[in-house]
Amino acid sequence: MSTVTFDSLNPATGAVVGTHPKASPEAVHEAVGRAETAAAWWGALGHAERKRRLLDYKAVLTQHIRELAALVHEENGKPVGDATLELVLAITHLDWAARNAAKVLGRRRVNTGMIGLNLAATLEYLPLGVVGVIGPWNYPVFTPMGSIAYALAAGNAVVFKPSELTPGIGVRLAELFKESVPEHEVFQTITGLGETGAALAGDPRVKKVAFTGSTATAKRVMAACAENLTPIVAECGGKDAFIVDADADLAAAADACLWGAMSNAGQTCVGVERVYVVDAVYDGFMRELTERAARLKAGEDYGPITMPGQVEIIKRHIDDATKAGKAVTGGPDAVRPPYVDPVIVEDVPEDSPAVREETFGPTITVRRTRDAQEALELANASAYGLGGTIFSRNARRATELARLMRSGMTAINSVISFAGVPALPFGGVGDSGFGRIHGADGLREFARPKAISRQRFAMPGMNLTSFNRGPEELERLVRLITFLHGRRKR
Ligand code: NDP
Repeated sequence: MSTVTFDSLNPATGAVVGTHPKASPEAVHEAVGRAETAAAWWGALGHAERKRRLLDYKAVLTQHIRELAALVHEENGKPVGDATLELVLAITHLDWAARNAAKVLGRRRVNTGMIGLNLAATLEYLPLGVVGVIGPWNYPVFTPMGSIAYALAAGNAVVFKPSELTPGIGVRLAELFKESVPEHEVFQTITGLGETGAALAGDPRVKKVAFTGSTATAKRVMAACAENLTPIVAECGGKDAFIVDADADLAAAADACLWGAMSNAGQTCVGVERVYVVDAVYDGFMRELTERAARLKAGEDYGPITMPGQVEIIKRHIDDATKAGKAVTGGPDAVRPPYVDPVIVEDVPEDSPAVREETFGPTITVRRTRDAQEALELANASAYGLGGTIFSRNARRATELARLMRSGMTAINSVISFAGVPALPFGGVGDSGFGRIHGADGLREFARPKAISRQRFAMPGMNLTSFNRGPEELERLVRLITFLHGRRKR
């Protein structure tokens, strides 16, 4: 075990929260070795026993919710209330994954069709083995748990590398798991910096990597995985749009917009970053929004910027946006590290960094649009495509817009509400990544389909897969296929 260590710091005060080992590549490979043994045991336990253990783990996490929320607050900086909300969501997902794994992944019979009348066919989803989870610091429980819970429920062992900014909470999640599963190292956390994550992604015994972080790092992780043809799930953030249609409840829209943009200091992959408001309600919406924003206080309503390096990016976006557009709340002096006060800028050109690049800060750009169609076109003109929001009183129209939004998830008349519905898959398109966590798709993401066909009896006169097949059998087959599929429908 490496003795080289690093500190995790409280982003608000700079105080040391904890000291953790920088796991060397050798330490990572040892952990993966232990995970391989654990995966064989855990995979063989079966769905019912795994469910029992995971529900017990869920209860353990719930019993420790105050302690865990305090630790998230210390390491990430978010208020304890927001940390608690994050834990509640993670617990809800763990519960869903545990309860639904057997139904989604368990063995079932499938229809064999007319040609396969003499066959019985079954489909089930088997564990992959060892899953590597590389997590971020912005939601250090909810985000990795979206992979960890589903991977465990699917019968895999997990080796988790938390962000170097939030290692303590990652360590605690695995420690508590031992209370429910003491026999083997089914869920381990290894701490370290980027190289530790790289060693995990590059280990050929890791059968899938679930990554959350920047698009640039996702590409590096994919390159490491390509060496062994290891598949990955990549959740790489976004530039989510918030559309306010002419018939929206403006007070509710402004309230949701502000929370979606500023909570967690804007460090949310599905946070609101771009706002498009239909001309007819623009002024009314802006009044509601700026009135509320004026009451918001960094350091009270939301915490500091967790990653010191991010402050420079936020500052660059604000400087650029306020030069080209008009600041209606805050401005360049909103940046007072480690805090950033709310910033709202109007009329920022669509090709500027503040509109195109992920800001990950408590800032938004707002633009007036002719109608919802133009808002949608602008919303979709992004390299990212993770989430998004639509406010409208017309449910049918809002659903239509949501379907046309180029993103993995869209919330209507609420923000981020999809993340709290465990049955809904979570993930993006384009630079936001690929693959899905959560829901049935999230369970299948960490499993491999196993197809089995069994001949129940020999079909008289229809032995097709044999060198003894005669012309009459082929003739019968052509007649059958013509009967089944030969009629054209015009
Ligand atoms: P990164 O993408 O660099 O880090 C994400 C995770 O990957 C961390 O655990 C990190 O470890 C690990 N990692 C870093 N390098 C490698 C590597 N070569 N191989 C394997 N794993 C690696 O994100 P940052 O934390 O630096 O944040 C940068 C930007 O990413 C933010 O500004 C934000 O825009 C975006 N982001 C998006 C998130 C989302 O929710 N989608 C979450 C976090 C960030 P370590 O922390 O030790 O470097």
